[in-house]
Amino acid sequence: MSLQSARSTAEKLAATHFCDRLPVRPEIIARKLGIAYLIEPLAEDIDGLLIVKGGRSTICVNKGKHDNRQRFSGAHELGHHVLGHYARSGNHVHVDKGVRILRRSPSSSEGTDLVEIEANQFAASLLMPSTAVRKEVEMLEILFDEDEIIDKLSKIFEVSIQAMTIRLTAMRLLQSH
Ligand SMILES: [Zn+2]
Repeated sequence: MSLQSARSTAEKLAATHFCDRLPVRPEIIARKLGIAYLIEPLAEDIDGLLIVKGGRSTICVNKGKHDNRQRFSGAHELGHHVLGHYARSGNHVHVDKGVRILRRSPSSSEGTDLVEIEANQFAASLLMPSTAVRKEVEMLEILFDEDEIIDKLSKIFEVSIQAMTIRLTAMRLLQSH
């Protein structure tokens, strides 16, 4: 599984289930795929869990976190499931502490980091599909400056300003960042 295929898998899932209706809701896609999606109070340092038991996956996100963060964590855990990261490990609980949106550690070529990067790329592409982002930017850039556009996009897609900025930068849609 490459980063590019993690991104395109997410884009396809978002397009199949959401078309033009934003924001993309990871919990709805998860349930359509037969994955239980729970929002529960978890320890403060935990963002989300992927529980694999008897061949079934359950996603649990921390109710104590901001809504945007919950959505990103849920999409990240969905990525682990869809990309088959833990499919062969039998009964397994994957714990994500502080899902770092920006993760460029030098050890990123190691297996565990790679799956985290793939899950983050999946989450960004799922929540901010490139076609939808471009369409919104084309409309907004007529009227607004870059900071206003980022602010408005983060509300449309229900993601943090940071996640939106990273996404726009990766898509080369920002001039000054
Ligand atoms: Zn993870």
